[in-house]
Amino acid sequence: MIRTTDLTKRYGRIHAVDGVDLEVREGDRYGLLGPNGSGKTTLVRMLLGLVFATRGEIEVLGSAVPRRVKEILPSVGALVEGPGAYPHLSGRTNLSLLDAAGPGGGRRDRRARVGEALERVGLAGIDRRPVRAYSLGMRQRLGLAAALLRRPRLLILDEPTNGLDPRGIREIRDLLIELNADGTTVFLSSHLLGEIEALCTRVGVMDRGRLVLQDDLATLRAPTGRVVVGTPDPERVVALLDGKVEAVQGHLLTVRHPDPGDLNAELVRAGIRITEFAGERRSLEQIVLAATTTSADRVEAP
Ligand code: ATP
Repeated sequence: MIRTTDLTKRYGRIHAVDGVDLEVREGDRYGLLGPNGSGKTTLVRMLLGLVFATRGEIEVLGSAVPRRVKEILPSVGALVEGPGAYPHLSGRTNLSLLDAAGPGGGRRDRRARVGEALERVGLAGIDRRPVRAYSLGMRQRLGLAAALLRRPRLLILDEPTNGLDPRGIREIRDLLIELNADGTTVFLSSHLLGEIEALCTRVGVMDRGRLVLQDDLATLRAPTGRVVVGTPDPERVVALLDGKVEAVQGHLLTVRHPDPGDLNAELVRAGIRITEFAGERRSLEQIVLAATTTSADRVEAP
């Protein structure tokens, strides 16, 4: 769906994007993570032909960007750096204008298409007030409605939940999962780990312009081979497991064991009371912190 090779963008001496090989496959919900200033927005804008690369190749839906970007734009819904809209017009009018300018369908169905897009993003009940009177969250929803008007095969969204409250974030997440289940590939950037972890199937991590990690979330979060065991008898467990206990913190033990099922059976056979038992997995936060350095926009004292 999206493939870049050695994609690079320099602004003077700054490598905003540096040698990125991105791969987004059909059906992915791909989350591009990275600290502020790591190059996410620049990368997303290059994918849409809004910024020209210094070096490298971009292919979106099989077409070279920016050379053949016009061919693919009708199949791509995009929300980049704040939804653009005429502030003095209503949301509905804005969408109608956009629909009229786009490739999709005849005038007769326009009202229905606009109504459906508004409904999907939770704005079905909006009145005639102008967009300038919208909250940031409403503008963001309107931007998403605009992206959906094209019934896109691919959605490219830069920080789509920016400005939304927790309930709004949840609604947009559910909407993106639903669209994805209906066949739309979703590519979005965010610096919110929790959002990516809850939404995405595949993750890329940017750090100072470089893509330092790219993999399926399930692979990244594979079991570590350790089990966290809670028990009121930690000493007995330590004695029983003979060297397999790697850490003891109060009543919680971290045990290295290849098979949690066997470990559970062994503890039960020994008559040890267990209050907690879980195979350990790394959180996305641990994975990202291990792959990145400090925030690019931190300025340390000399
Ligand atoms: P954020 O999460 O804060 O939006 P980001 O990961 O999207 O950050 P970018 O906005 O792509 O990062 O910026 C990457 C780097 O490129 C930054 O150092 C930024 O200052 C620089 N940069 C971006 N656009 C320009 C520009 N037009 N001219 C000069 N430098 C730029």
